[in-house]
Amino acid sequence: MPEPLEYQVVLRVAACAVCRTDLHVVDGELDRGVLPIVLGHQVVGRVVSAGPDSALQVGERVGVPWLASTCGSCEMCAAGRENLCPSARFTGCDVDGGFAELVLADSRFCLRLPGAYGDVEAAPLLCGGLIGFRALRMAGEASRLGLYGFGSAAHLITQVARHRGAAVYAFTRAGDLAGQEFARSMGATWAGESTGPAPEPLDAAIIFAPAGELVPLALAAVRPGGTVVCAGIHMSDIPRFPYSLLWGERSLRSVANLTREDGADFMALAGEARIDVLTEVLPLAQADRALELVRTGRVRGTAVLVPD
Ligand SMILES: [Zn+2]
Ligand SMILES: [Zn+2]
Repeated sequence: MPEPLEYQVVLRVAACAVCRTDLHVVDGELDRGVLPIVLGHQVVGRVVSAGPDSALQVGERVGVPWLASTCGSCEMCAAGRENLCPSARFTGCDVDGGFAELVLADSRFCLRLPGAYGDVEAAPLLCGGLIGFRALRMAGEASRLGLYGFGSAAHLITQVARHRGAAVYAFTRAGDLAGQEFARSMGATWAGESTGPAPEPLDAAIIFAPAGELVPLALAAVRPGGTVVCAGIHMSDIPRFPYSLLWGERSLRSVANLTREDGADFMALAGEARIDVLTEVLPLAQADRALELVRTGRVRGTAVLVPD
């Protein structure tokens, strides 16, 4: 049983969703983090003990997201951009995460969860939903939105985008007919292969798959003035492409981490939009199998670990 220090709480984990980022940590693809580390940054749990000045009470249900802590005083933190704080620490990467029975968290960075969601279905909201939501904001006003890679984040964000009146175009790996069918069942207007052309010019596109070769394809699919957002923390190298793909005031940008404000805004929206969260539940003891399912793209929705 860990001992909570100032502002900290100990949570008993009820569920922890698996993210593509967990694989990047396992594969050593991020230039940060400590070893050994307990993975998992989409943790739903209940407070079992609270340290001095904790913002939470024993018994409360909260979520622990990727952003574990920030310095609170640098230029970025002062400007409301704590997602870019150079001293930020991340759950399941710099501090132990939720592939566990108990987790220690800074109460000031825990997020309140909409009550309509059970523990398992709330877990994927904490990264797939939340980072997807930040990416959706960065995409700007888009009535035709492309999503590249249709996994945990995309199945949630398709519903949020539709709730806002946008049409979603889902691009999957060539030959992934099951993935395309899944995208249509989640509300996508159109689903097809990422290597083929878009059926009509898109206003914006979000790339969830960690594949750099999708960047020129997405740029080619958006209209002049459109935005392409790279939503993953890691991506393979982007191949060289002609300037004409960027010309016409197209924008290419990344999305990094989250702010607590994003968290509060997204949880409010999730409460209102009542997102249908598809999960594949595995016992904590099968965490390695869950990671392999995510690696091979064999999960419909989000893999979620539950302590035995
Ligand atoms: Zn800071
Ligand atoms: Zn994540």
